[in-house]
Amino acid sequence: MPDYVISTPPVVGIPVTGGAEVFPVRRVYCIGRNYAAHTIEMGGNPDREPPFFFQKNPDNLDASGEFPYPAHSSDVHHEVELAIALKAGGTAIAVDQALAHVFGYAVAIDMTRRDLQAEAKKMSRPWETSKAFEHSAPVGPIHPAAKVGHPDRGLIALKVNGAPRQEGDLNQMIWKVPEMISFLSEYFELAPGDLILSGTPAGVGPVAKGDRLEASIEGLGGIVVAVV
Ligand code: MN
Repeated sequence: MPDYVISTPPVVGIPVTGGAEVFPVRRVYCIGRNYAAHTIEMGGNPDREPPFFFQKNPDNLDASGEFPYPAHSSDVHHEVELAIALKAGGTAIAVDQALAHVFGYAVAIDMTRRDLQAEAKKMSRPWETSKAFEHSAPVGPIHPAAKVGHPDRGLIALKVNGAPRQEGDLNQMIWKVPEMISFLSEYFELAPGDLILSGTPAGVGPVAKGDRLEASIEGLGGIVVAVV
């Protein structure tokens, strides 16, 4: 091991259900507008246009159950999403081979500074300040596909203080999990440890300090996140 000039950054790990093991994260890719009803609510065209991706930082993932309301925004939105954890990578992965690269699945929330994102869109600027900020990806434990299979249908939902806000079905994804992996692998070299957030159904909306978010996906349980 080299003699590093500063201490080495820690590896980000997400708990895996059923034991003490932890999934180490390399990169976090996120797909935009992957459910037709959400695409329409964001003013987009729900036709099957090529998918687009942005990234969050691995250390934006937070399994603590708390979301500190970030500075420099007064319009922070919740987006409940299915997270896909890869155990194998590569380039030009065929759609019919893609699921063999998946280790498991988790419930995640893509927290978004919507006001900063709207400004970035208007100015044709990148999205990092609206998407890739500290604690911006609350996440639950990873359920191994060996135990839960590869969910492609079922309720994906989010409640705020007990009131339903987002409800959709995994089968409403415009680009399905194998297609997303295949498409990403044409542009990036995927690797074990990569995580993909697969887009959010309709009903995104603002959160406030004191709110209690409950995000759930059929077959994967749920997570509770307090906005602090
Ligand atoms: Mn999202």
